[in-house]
Amino acid sequence: MIVELTNISKSYVNPGTNVQREVLSGIDLTIKSKELISIVGPSGSGKSTLLNIIGTIDTPSSGKILFKGQDVNTFNEKQLSEIRNRSIGFVFQFHHLLPQLSLLENILVPTIPLRSKNKGKELTERAMELLSSVGLTERIHQRPGQLSGGECQRAALVRALINQPELILADEPTGSLDQDSAFQLGELLLDINRKHNVAMVVVTHSLTLAEKMSTIYRLSKGKLV
Ligand code: ADP
Repeated sequence: MIVELTNISKSYVNPGTNVQREVLSGIDLTIKSKELISIVGPSGSGKSTLLNIIGTIDTPSSGKILFKGQDVNTFNEKQLSEIRNRSIGFVFQFHHLLPQLSLLENILVPTIPLRSKNKGKELTERAMELLSSVGLTERIHQRPGQLSGGECQRAALVRALINQPELILADEPTGSLDQDSAFQLGELLLDINRKHNVAMVVVTHSLTLAEKMSTIYRLSKGKLV
């Protein structure tokens, strides 16, 4: 078990009206090792909120989160950022690659906080291997601005994998792509799940992408069904 959410609720107070609104209401969810999960639901139903809570970027109003059996409430900020950096890879709708760095340099950014002196060469080799596995060998010295949206998103996926996470959290990963690139990225997610034994939770509007996952949840009225 990588993550186990029990009875998670999340409310926001609207600052204008001071009215409280419950976005997530008593959610239970377990994410097992290598599992493929998609979460669908209308805009505003709380999908991103839920993903951010799973990724420890956001905290629930109530409920319990176990990360590999340990209550995340017992972790301090340093331990939480280590989990986020080492055990979880994040992919968003937009690639968020740094425009002034080459693809290779971008891929290595998440390794900076973890890097020990002699690991530089090894990490560069791993980055090159991963970039090659997503068909980007020819592009490693180019900057994001010189590449297509699909290529950048493939690079963002590699960046999410560089620290060998157990879990990838992807929020609308194909949302900014054309149909062909979206299809390719979906296939790539499956391929990566098999090759790297990594679990995935994918929030998406695309039923084509959602249906590639082994479990599909719908978020509706704060509940997962
Ligand atoms: P989805 O990803 O399904 O589109 P979100 O999780 O982004 O939904 O948002 C769910 C609801 O919570 C929305 O109504 C949104 O306006 C509200 N919300 C999200 N973040 C905040 C916040 N920081 N403060 C207040 N309301 C928020």
